Amino acid sequence: MKGNAAVRIQAIFQWKRVRFRGLAHLLAAVALLSLPQISHAAAPAVTVSDARLGVHPAKTRFVVDLTGQVAYRIFSLKDPYRLVIDLPEVAWKMPFASGRRAGGDVSSIRYNLFKQGTSRIVLDLSKPMEVVSSFILPPGNTAKYRLVIDLRATDAARFNAAAGWPMVAPPPVVPRAKEPVAPALAKKIIVIDPGHGGKDPGAPSKSGATEKSIVLTMAKLLKKDLEKTGAYKAVLTREGDTALHLRERIAIARKNKADLFISLHADTLPGKRSIRGTSFYTLSEKASDKEAAALAHKENQADVLLRVDMSDNTEEVNNILIDLAMRETKNRSVRFAGVLVSELGKTTRLLKNPHRYAGFAVLKAPDVPSVLVELGYLSNQSDEKNLRSSSWRKKVSGSIVRAIDGYFDPVAIKKASR
Ligand SMILES: [Zn+2]
Repeated sequence: MKGNAAVRIQAIFQWKRVRFRGLAHLLAAVALLSLPQISHAAAPAVTVSDARLGVHPAKTRFVVDLTGQVAYRIFSLKDPYRLVIDLPEVAWKMPFASGRRAGGDVSSIRYNLFKQGTSRIVLDLSKPMEVVSSFILPPGNTAKYRLVIDLRATDAARFNAAAGWPMVAPPPVVPRAKEPVAPALAKKIIVIDPGHGGKDPGAPSKSGATEKSIVLTMAKLLKKDLEKTGAYKAVLTREGDTALHLRERIAIARKNKADLFISLHADTLPGKRSIRGTSFYTLSEKASDKEAAALAHKENQADVLLRVDMSDNTEEVNNILIDLAMRETKNRSVRFAGVLVSELGKTTRLLKNPHRYAGFAVLKAPDVPSVLVELGYLSNQSDEKNLRSSSWRKKVSGSIVRAIDGYFDPVAIKKASR
């Protein structure tokens, strides 16, 4: 990200002004701030569904996903170094336990109800850090609000001088909204991409079965199994033996507003015929940022990238939004790969270190969580037998469906990530 903090903050305010242009919004915000504390018989109006760290060379970005707009306050405490974020009382639906998850100089993230009316997140720091900027982004590509806090390293003297209990009051309670209307349960859209096709057969095998036909058979089975559940709509990038450019495969996922993209392949290692097992690839950290950002920019940013109209925003704000979207997509891809490893590990043999990172172009949609599955090695006799066996394919397809169920169900994700 270019630009200094001042420019960035200014950009945010500009953008906020655009977003909150309506007087009604302003009045609502004022009303919110002056509300007296209300009774807590009702459940908190806002839920925190995730929090994550992005560690960059120049800054550490902490992002909290919220189901609604909240006021917040941030302060720091010394001995040991901590950063405290107070929110009005929220419900926690975090995918990780308090005290877990770390990154860069943040050694752990703790969260809890601090006292009635106030919920608290504490970042334990291994080195002194200071807040460069903080802001709340209204929903973009997801229905979430995001509290974004950018931190950078500072020295102990500066940290200690700024540390201390705040003089300002804790954030006001968010009034409980009317009974929330249950959102219509939309089917999740899974785009399945059978690799290769047409003139490109992919990996060959001794028996003459080619990768392109094996993965197409698997993709059709997976589509059938997914749609049987009633929870998913599955779209194949190719239904027959046709050639497709890698970019076209991504375009199909994005055009269909896919919730997940799964590219199916089978590998070959003719020199090492003993190697076998299924493996899962997500985009490597290095490969992703540059290429995905280039794609996002090429598509004029306002494209469905964030599924929100970005044309009112400044370049700087768009960069922040793109950066956030890509990181979120990457995190989701990694999470999905983790569930795949745990589900398929129960039914079939996996390669050593089955979750791997690579710069595959087909994984570069900036807004669709994507995993490439290498089902097995056609160069290995046992794997080849499996890949051509309908009972093995049935078993594996069932496991992928369970992994997808697990990915969309936070309770199951929680179990899988322990
Ligand atoms: Zn392949």
